Amino acid sequence: MEKRRLGRTGLDVTVISFGALPIQRHTMEDAGPVLNAALDAGINFIDTARAYSDSEEKIGQHISSRRSEYYLATKSMSRDKSSMAKDIETSLTNMRTDYIDIYQIHNIKERKDFEAVMAPGGALEALKEAQAAGKIGHIGVTGHSLPLLIEAVKTNEFSTVQVPFNFIETGALDELFPLAESLDVGRIVMKPLGGGQVRSIDLALRFLLEHNITVAIPGMDKVEHIAQNIAPAKKFHPLTIEEKNILKDEAQQIGPNFCRRCGYCMPCAAEIDIPQMFIFHLQYAFYGLKEAIPKRYAAMKAKASACIDCGVCETRCPYDLPIRDRLKQVAQDLG
Ligand code: SF4
Ligand code: SF4
Repeated sequence: MEKRRLGRTGLDVTVISFGALPIQRHTMEDAGPVLNAALDAGINFIDTARAYSDSEEKIGQHISSRRSEYYLATKSMSRDKSSMAKDIETSLTNMRTDYIDIYQIHNIKERKDFEAVMAPGGALEALKEAQAAGKIGHIGVTGHSLPLLIEAVKTNEFSTVQVPFNFIETGALDELFPLAESLDVGRIVMKPLGGGQVRSIDLALRFLLEHNITVAIPGMDKVEHIAQNIAPAKKFHPLTIEEKNILKDEAQQIGPNFCRRCGYCMPCAAEIDIPQMFIFHLQYAFYGLKEAIPKRYAAMKAKASACIDCGVCETRCPYDLPIRDRLKQVAQDLG
């Protein structure tokens, strides 16, 4: 598979790599075949996070014995120095390694996050100390707010920037990616398949490969996803006009404010699986699965109608989605 240089880190990473968020949905045992299959397929970059429940532990359990075969990135939501220092140690322990290639500030969402990280006693100091001690190689930043990421990249403190980019959300092309490229900052693409919403996987990934990204990290939780996701990078050919039109139609159907299945809104006080509700609704209302989805929805323990309107989920959603209103729509259509 094609490899691209990840900016000033100098790491040559496979252009389609492994997003390790979805393996948190597996049991410890079931995550092993997926992680090993990714390495067997030649993927050499794995991105996880402290926030992805036991994803780091699964990496440690199943592929730490193959540590020389992959570059490893993780991230932490810590904003102050002492909690970031603790998180770095936890990540090293969890992943059974003495070196993490890239440690990222996770989800700079608001200005106060950014200011806290950069301030004296902020998380950046812990990352720099860990780098000087040889525990981590490079420091990166992730988020969904383009203005804040642009500001972060301009500080020149970060070697990588991770942002959502796909054929539906292309805002990073305007300023962030050109700026990052000019400063030799690696561009890591999260949500390349819209968090699982996208149907035209081959086209969506070829769209990314046509642009000046460094690496895309689709989340993979099934062995069969791996071959499917890396196929466009093994035998790339540009999108035709007809294929571009297919993506345009699909982007219009999904719209810009869709749930990316990141799960940050969870847990829900009423035990609703919020992202799953939205997936069901998309499949029912837009993809026309009018028989299969009501049956699957009926089997859910907590349905959309169980929402008690506490609003906590909306404070956690990085996309500021009106979750409660959307759930009302789900309840209206599916019960
Ligand atoms: S507002 Fe509804 S969906 Fe959101 S956390 Fe509260 S109960 Fe759950
Ligand atoms: S509702 Fe928001 S926080 Fe929850 S999974 Fe979807 S995008 Fe993520």
